[in-house]
Amino acid sequence: MAPLLDSSSTYSFSDTATFARASRAKTGAGYVYSRWANPTVDAFEAALADLEGTEAAEAFASGMGAISSVFLALCSSGDRVVATRQLYGNTYSLLQERLPRYGITATFCDHDDHTAIAAALRGAKLLYCETIGNPKVQVADLPHLAALASEAGIPLVVDNTFASPALCRPIAHGASIVIHSATKFIGGHHDLLGGVVCASAQMLEPVAEVARDLGPTLAPFNAWLGLRGIATLPLRVERSSTTALKVARALQRYDGIEAVYYPSLESSPSYRLAGALMGGRGGGTLAFEVRGGRERAGAFQDALELILPAASLGGTHSLIVHAAGVTHTQLGPDELVSAGISEGLCRLSVGLEDPGDLIADLTAALAATG
Ligand code: PLP
Repeated sequence: MAPLLDSSSTYSFSDTATFARASRAKTGAGYVYSRWANPTVDAFEAALADLEGTEAAEAFASGMGAISSVFLALCSSGDRVVATRQLYGNTYSLLQERLPRYGITATFCDHDDHTAIAAALRGAKLLYCETIGNPKVQVADLPHLAALASEAGIPLVVDNTFASPALCRPIAHGASIVIHSATKFIGGHHDLLGGVVCASAQMLEPVAEVARDLGPTLAPFNAWLGLRGIATLPLRVERSSTTALKVARALQRYDGIEAVYYPSLESSPSYRLAGALMGGRGGGTLAFEVRGGRERAGAFQDALELILPAASLGGTHSLIVHAAGVTHTQLGPDELVSAGISEGLCRLSVGLEDPGDLIADLTAALAATG
């Protein structure tokens, strides 16, 4: 019933000829060594491929392990990628600072500036975006971006972490590769680090080779925890989406809040896309600007009792982060402005608590610091 946890790092053979054959094949001829393949990790990969509607999946030790392996697999020195500007901070610094050291450069465009994206795609190797952008939860127009990538003859790579396959399957909208930080909704209980890349077997092969060479492999126990998380994924995503909408509406009515960003609010520029791509649901993450800038945002977060200041999302517990101070410290002042991240911007990941308790906690902390 529960999946088996096979924690072995290596596998023995009855004879050396079979051992040699399996070692040459690396996968598909029996398990040899767990950096190459492991039964529990395979079960996790099969579940993710099924959820995202792809032929195959490759699991990683973290979301960043998955993201960096895709760039290293698909790009070589001299290549350039195009990425939307609305990105997780470490993905941005990977593209802006680390990969250029190896000759791979990036052009950043706003996710909705399709003219700039089309122009930048000339000569580029791939187009990269997040389904729901970080941290202001803007929904990317995946069918449009996929069409632009396809015209340029390159793959669209989508980080689907914020939406999860319970809300959106980017492959159905034209993406070629889907990535997750499985640390978030897939795991869902704040107790594992993991990542996954979902794609066709052909597209995935070079990504799996990078995993074998560099070693950012998912541990079997984390794969096992991931399988446990997947069993309740739709229930958790549904519940946190419903609660997040209630919280977003309550914050909109509150005087100490300058702006609320949540895709399924009627006032959101992403409202139409949330309807078209995510069945009208907005996910478990919202962002809002506290009146009074960085100082008030800090005092407000300190005054919260139920919601914890912590740097993750998509789990059972509601967590809050100050974007400029925590998740996006990689961005300088100008980069923060062009990513639309103000000093008072907070990102709230809504968990499974009672919606009334969450709203009471937020409004009490706002009142206490107003
Ligand atoms: N992608 C997104 C959208 C994220 O929010 C994060 C982490 O917060 C990552 C990737 C990186 O994932 P990990 O922390 O598992 O490496």
